[in-house]
Amino acid sequence: MTPSLALAERNVPRYTSYPTAPHFSAAVSPERYGEWLAAVPPEARLSLYIHVPFCTELCHYCGCNTRAVRKRAPIDDYAELLIKEIALLANLSGRKLTHLHWGGGTPSILGPEWLETIAASLASRFDLSELKEHAIELDPRQLDKPLVRTLAAIGVNRASLGMQDANPHVQQAIGRVQPFELVERAAGWLREAGIANLNLDLMYGLPEQTTRDAARSAELAVSLKPQRLALFGYAHVPWFKSHQRLIDEASLPGPSERLEQAQAAAETLISFGYQAIGLDHFALPSDELCAATREHRLHRNFQGYTTDDADALIGLGASSIGKLPQGFVQNAPDLGGYSRSVAAGRFPIVKGLILSDDDRLRAAIIERLMCDLAVDLDAFGGTARFAAEIETLEPLAGQGLLQIDGARITMTEQGRPYVRIAAAAFDTYLAASQKKHSVAV
Ligand code: SF4
Repeated sequence: MTPSLALAERNVPRYTSYPTAPHFSAAVSPERYGEWLAAVPPEARLSLYIHVPFCTELCHYCGCNTRAVRKRAPIDDYAELLIKEIALLANLSGRKLTHLHWGGGTPSILGPEWLETIAASLASRFDLSELKEHAIELDPRQLDKPLVRTLAAIGVNRASLGMQDANPHVQQAIGRVQPFELVERAAGWLREAGIANLNLDLMYGLPEQTTRDAARSAELAVSLKPQRLALFGYAHVPWFKSHQRLIDEASLPGPSERLEQAQAAAETLISFGYQAIGLDHFALPSDELCAATREHRLHRNFQGYTTDDADALIGLGASSIGKLPQGFVQNAPDLGGYSRSVAAGRFPIVKGLILSDDDRLRAAIIERLMCDLAVDLDAFGGTARFAAEIETLEPLAGQGLLQIDGARITMTEQGRPYVRIAAAAFDTYLAASQKKHSVAV
């Protein structure tokens, strides 16, 4: 195995936060969260994430917190709980919401009436006059025109469509049969309704997937001209997501094939004029993500790369994570625990992390590396403080994956897929938890 293949197989976090969620503990109680909310200044700009943990059926590869439901009752009950949870945020009344994101699961499973009711509840709690981005994750198989009209009516201006792979044999192997025409139709309906910003999600490393399949899927995706694309590597973690056992391990591509697939899909996207953003995103040059990248103001959050620079992130729904200046909080991931707390009028917080000064410093270094693919350690206390980390990075420099020039660390283009490994050098929590993460590429 070549050195870079060995690196590609290393288990490292995706660094959508630092410290990462496996290190959250019972250190943050619902009462403390209440105190943190009460301290949010009136002029603060907020970002809000709503998690809806339901889908009509489970895709074999899914790594999200969701469950398959066939009946309306659990969805209706959950929607009522979301409204109760919004009511618990009385301390934030009148605060400006600049970003709103519905994720899941399949958030549109709530249906037009609940989407409208929840949106109205948010509008009565927050000031939406400066809402820049109102985004939702959509399953193209679960969309119709009335639903699209509702999304437009509640102000959704960005939609992410899960595409993954366009080839029927791969779709069979991942338990998600979704002809490309469905994605095309969904994109058309959304644009017709005025939802102009489209993201498409692609994947590599899927069962039965070949390099040609990954490139063909990328070609079909760009034919729809989305402003943004994400290209994620499938994370096979059946010890953590038991339904992934439905995937035959023998049909999974090996590390060198994964690398080839990622490269072929990325090259296809770039050949059609998309710019690579960070580890796994692509955007048209006119998109704000490209400007944010040039100006070093790109951020990384639980949804990936973003221009969201809100002062605090509020999470609603089971398993959702919030971030306040003081630290992270996470809602109960199980529906039972979430429901009991909200029904009793308590914040459903079960875990969190109080940020230390060292956490903040390392979080900033890791975010710059993940977003800019470069970091200047002089801005973070200088090289003397990070001598051990620089030593850890030297083998990567030796393989041409990054350059160390005094205090400046810069990933090479060849090193872009390995940026998580460079970031991991600054992660003081990692050693104890390495097995829980997915492979680097
Ligand atoms: S639709 Fe998305 S969230 Fe639902 S099971 Fe499939 S991959 Fe998971």
